[in-house]
Amino acid sequence: MKAVALEAPGSLAVIELPEPSDAVGVTVRLRAAGVCGTELHFLDGMIPPPSFPFVLGHEGAGVVSAAPADSRWKIGDRVAIYNLISCGLCHWCRTGREEVCANPVGQLGFNLDGTFRDAVVVPDGNLVALPDNVSFEEAALLSCSGMTAVHVTRLAGVALGETALVDGIGGVGLMVIQACVAAGLSVIGIADSESKADLARQAGARDVIVLGDDGYEAVPAAAKELTGGEGADYFFELVGTSASITAGIRSLRRHGAVMMIGYTSENINIHPIELILSETKILSSVAASRNDLETAVALCSQGKMSALIDTRYPLEEAGIALERLRARTVHGRNVLVWE
Ligand SMILES: [Zn+2]
Ligand SMILES: [Zn+2]
Repeated sequence: MKAVALEAPGSLAVIELPEPSDAVGVTVRLRAAGVCGTELHFLDGMIPPPSFPFVLGHEGAGVVSAAPADSRWKIGDRVAIYNLISCGLCHWCRTGREEVCANPVGQLGFNLDGTFRDAVVVPDGNLVALPDNVSFEEAALLSCSGMTAVHVTRLAGVALGETALVDGIGGVGLMVIQACVAAGLSVIGIADSESKADLARQAGARDVIVLGDDGYEAVPAAAKELTGGEGADYFFELVGTSASITAGIRSLRRHGAVMMIGYTSENINIHPIELILSETKILSSVAASRNDLETAVALCSQGKMSALIDTRYPLEEAGIALERLRARTVHGRNVLVWE
């Protein structure tokens, strides 16, 4: 079978791999795999792979093609892949927080070979059933950005009628807007272009702050103006530069929370007194639990969460999809598709 792998630092190639064995789990033939910023971090060396060649990709959906006799899955089942293979035994797994598992087996596309290949084998518990009205392409995106959005919205502890700023209108940001709207929040997007502002509005944002030449400098004042002088209850941070995080903290009302999801190589750089006087919280969110993926799939099936797809590429063109991501010309998500 074909796969797209890092063969050496910075070098992407289409390689041949043996067909997977179904001895250790359920075999899924991929039908769609999302192309995410994480893959760019691998290509650029920000995240080193465990070894070479390393198959990229941590988002995927497809059809079960083989399953052990005792599996709850059968051939032909449509599924989304939950990419974290957790231990299932530690305190965190037993309390539904497997995203912080103390002893994980690994994560597809991070330290286990990923979804940019024709087929993968995963444990029974790493699949989520897809209703007929959820497409493979949408499901692939739900398996990263959708579940991440559900997870961070839950961690924030949002309540009906509150206000959220969502900074960064990419694949995750558009899902966070939809999750917050579904939870009853009033949402303001922060976009770096008019076209992304339109996407934020389509996803349900009631207003959008479009960054000008002064970048994030003007954001706190704009946020206050759009919230009756108060500031927002939450700042969902998908960008993660020093400037954007600082602007986020200054855009909140008292007791507000910055929700850290996106990151760059830059540090958080703000004097503690700016947090202390307002009792501002900084919370963080990593990926999601399997239940968050199940919820994202349910929200999609109910029409409350949809995935915006920019361009579909065959597996062999994963590199082109990644270069478009680097050029910041992707609206929504690029997705690899199999016929
Ligand atoms: Zn992703
Ligand atoms: Zn565990």
